[in-house]
Amino acid sequence: MTLKSKPQPRIGQQHDSIFFELTRSICPECKAVIDAQIILRDGKVFMRKRCKDHGWFESLLSSDAEMYIDALRFNKPGTIPLKYTTEVKDGCPLDCGLCTEHKQHTCLAIIDVNTACNLDCPICFADAGPGYNLTMDQVGTMLDAFVEMEGEPEVVQFSGGEPTIHPQILDMVILAREKGIKQVMINTNGLRIARDDRFFEKMARVKPYIYLQFDGLEPETYKSIRGEDLVETKLKALDRLAEADMDVVLVAAIERGVNEHEVGALVKFGLEHPAVRGVIFQPVFHTGRHLPFDPLDRVTMPDIVKGIAAQTDGMFRVDDFVPVPCCYPNCQMMTYAYVDGDEVTPLPRVLNVDDYLDYISNSAFPDLSIDVKKALEGLWSATSIPGSQDTADKFECAVCDIPIEFDLGHLKKHVFAVIIKSFMDAYTLDVKQLMKCCVGQLVPDGRMIPFCAYNNVGYREQIREELNPLARRRRA
Ligand code: SF4
Ligand code: SF4
Ligand code: SF4
Repeated sequence: MTLKSKPQPRIGQQHDSIFFELTRSICPECKAVIDAQIILRDGKVFMRKRCKDHGWFESLLSSDAEMYIDALRFNKPGTIPLKYTTEVKDGCPLDCGLCTEHKQHTCLAIIDVNTACNLDCPICFADAGPGYNLTMDQVGTMLDAFVEMEGEPEVVQFSGGEPTIHPQILDMVILAREKGIKQVMINTNGLRIARDDRFFEKMARVKPYIYLQFDGLEPETYKSIRGEDLVETKLKALDRLAEADMDVVLVAAIERGVNEHEVGALVKFGLEHPAVRGVIFQPVFHTGRHLPFDPLDRVTMPDIVKGIAAQTDGMFRVDDFVPVPCCYPNCQMMTYAYVDGDEVTPLPRVLNVDDYLDYISNSAFPDLSIDVKKALEGLWSATSIPGSQDTADKFECAVCDIPIEFDLGHLKKHVFAVIIKSFMDAYTLDVKQLMKCCVGQLVPDGRMIPFCAYNNVGYREQIREELNPLARRRRA
């Protein structure tokens, strides 16, 4: 919301809000880097900032101040990458990256292999359309840069545009594995999986992990968010993936007034579908193409956690969700459950995950097992891919002392993750979250740009312009 003039409390009157902290952000109009106040009001958290040219802006960061503040104790010291690629010059977020002031290495690197798509969604943070297709050589160089930064990188996600329409996408998956990257994922809308038999035959042989865009089970949801009813297409894609014994995480963009009521149904559906190992919810962030929105009335992480609790009949509770400590703890919350038929046991009900991952006060618990703590740190991290053997192994280690029966032989199929990722837009961008970001966008010149910086500060547009052959010809 733009506030044309700053509402001033009268002298002697009490402020209507609590000043919590000062940080840095950007102007939603001109992207200038500006100071931003984080304030608490009516039990919620807001960002308030002023651009000298565009006035005051206020936006909702969290609908639950208590959850926002409580999350801060889940803040793990970062790990330094083996290599930085930029120097500090203009200050965060203009020096990405990673610059030498970045506070965390990269758990998950994203490579946008193209900008085109076979859909034209009204909501698309990538603003998919004409632009570029990366070559195998470019992708090889980017993967090498990731190996140099990380040594033994954990996860690469191929994205776009729509990566499955890139003619060499499966060769890229194979190349990433050859470079030693442990988990390779494709982030897809699923259209080609559902409709192109020959492509899917080849994909089923390569078997990447699939992040499947899956916003709900109702036609109206898809008509609003994706521009057409895609329910049958999504179900067909999922059934094919199940037949091919592939592992899938559903990814749902959740928008105010569109599909908030579907979060519980999505979790229940995922639990029952044989291909699905987890669901990721992303409150819509308003970057690229988006529907009209009110920054003071956005979906935030607590709305989704509470929605899941209210809509799953006690299967999941609010206190089953724990902030992810590897990034800044207001970026992400998640939980795991052990699933055996109809029985769903969230891990925090049998193990006090909070005590292990509370880095501010956990010196108060000297008896905690180091092995369990390490396993939980691995699970509560962007490196953890639901459905992978690695995640199953960490889960097994976390529950090793718990006297309840788990089918350890088939754990991979019994562990289910529910994750909420709160990506930022120009209204909500907070540099202290960015500085500890562990999700990076790899670009062909070898830089690793934190994902929320890539989408909001102008990096995405720069890279698209640089790589677009038509624009290159215009410049020559
Ligand atoms: S987000 Fe990280 S890499 Fe980018 S400028 Fe800030 S500290 Fe540097
Ligand atoms: S949101 Fe995804 S599927 Fe939709 S247009 Fe953008 S890239 Fe394509
Ligand atoms: S991508 Fe954004 S929300 Fe995710 S860890 Fe990085 S800064 Fe936080």
